[in-house]
Amino acid sequence: MFLKKKKEDLMILYWYLRTKKLEKRLDTREKLDIYQRRKISQHINWVKQHSPYIRKHYQDKYLLSDFPIMDKSLFMEQFTEWNTKGIMEKEAEEVAQKAEEQRNFAPKVRGVTVGLSSGTSGSRGMFLVSDQEREQWTGVILAKLLPKSLLHPEKIAFFLRANSNLYESTGQRKLQFKFFDLYELSRSECNELQALHSYSPSILIAPPSVLRLIAQEMEQGKIRIAPKKVISIAEVLEDIDKDMLVRVFKQQIHQVYQCTEGFLASTCKYGNLHLNEEHVVIEKEYLKDRRFVPIITDFTRTTQPIIRYRLNDILMEKGKICPCGSPATWIERIEGRCDDVFVFEKLDGEKLTIYPDSFRKLFYSEPTVAEYEVILTKNGLSIHLLPDISEEVKMHLHTQLRELFVRSNCPVPSVTWGEVKKKRFMTKQKRILNETSKCVYQATTG
Ligand SMILES: [Zn+2]
Repeated sequence: MFLKKKKEDLMILYWYLRTKKLEKRLDTREKLDIYQRRKISQHINWVKQHSPYIRKHYQDKYLLSDFPIMDKSLFMEQFTEWNTKGIMEKEAEEVAQKAEEQRNFAPKVRGVTVGLSSGTSGSRGMFLVSDQEREQWTGVILAKLLPKSLLHPEKIAFFLRANSNLYESTGQRKLQFKFFDLYELSRSECNELQALHSYSPSILIAPPSVLRLIAQEMEQGKIRIAPKKVISIAEVLEDIDKDMLVRVFKQQIHQVYQCTEGFLASTCKYGNLHLNEEHVVIEKEYLKDRRFVPIITDFTRTTQPIIRYRLNDILMEKGKICPCGSPATWIERIEGRCDDVFVFEKLDGEKLTIYPDSFRKLFYSEPTVAEYEVILTKNGLSIHLLPDISEEVKMHLHTQLRELFVRSNCPVPSVTWGEVKKKRFMTKQKRILNETSKCVYQATTG
């Protein structure tokens, strides 16, 4: 047991140092591109030998562009043949299901952790991560996030939806680590927040909806904590939250963008989000302006290779070099899921696409709006606000919405008003929601 722990610590340290070194060495885009090309070519060769599916179908392929673009459903269809450990879909599913029922967060199949990702679009994904990959992930994330060196003591508080054992290996000696379960938070807010207060973390990691709750409690004097670094994860960090968090925590708010498919981006010392391109190749499927859908190839993951995996997210690149000097793509913001895009039909039959950010800007422009939801239903737009919002503000919002549609020569959808419900932390906070699925909304006239 002791030896195993020792080996684990060494692996984490190795990946921590490696990431630090890579960040220094790959200081131009050219060097980063050359490095990625070399890694990808090695990775393709390795995967061709170890994944039965790839061996069978792609033996004569050498370039990344020769591989098909995968999405979650395609990825799941090939689960058994795709992974390199010979794990059958059925056995992984049984273990994962059982673990979920028992709230056991460490389900393993022959030494490999099985994770489930719910996904907003309905289809469930199943992910395999080996111990080695978990240690690797820990080393990389520590290198990217720790404000000082690994030897500097820190107390990390981590709010998560499930205590997947993917995250537990961060228990390094100098680093104290406490996990707060969002399930417990939703059942007993008071107890969990008091526990946070007593723990007094130096680094606080949580989804923005939880950070907001903590900040509110701090403002009301119910808890007192003074973290040196605050990191937002798992949900889109909107300006409406960011402003409040910056004010209460008196520092910039950092971000980590990661999902079961990989660790994709984190903020630099300037608080700007950069893609994790030392470990992942991210192809960009461009939409309008600088928006794109990422297609990821993680050349450090081997148990269940992630090759040209199309995420269901929309990112917006900045298109500039960050003052920190990193050549890794600077991401201005994460817009949200592809499904969060609203599509309307204009009078001339053309489509009007409204990205989540248009709504965010609209509500952000009203200083009294602290919380909102916009839901596209088959009957039109349903807008939820806090009960103290004046009729005047609603009228103003309504006028601006109308203008948005009229300007685009599009019938104005009907708008109904309601109240924002209290947050349950077990589900991801989403302020902009398309309940009509992907179909084009057609306003009924008259
Ligand atoms: Zn930067």
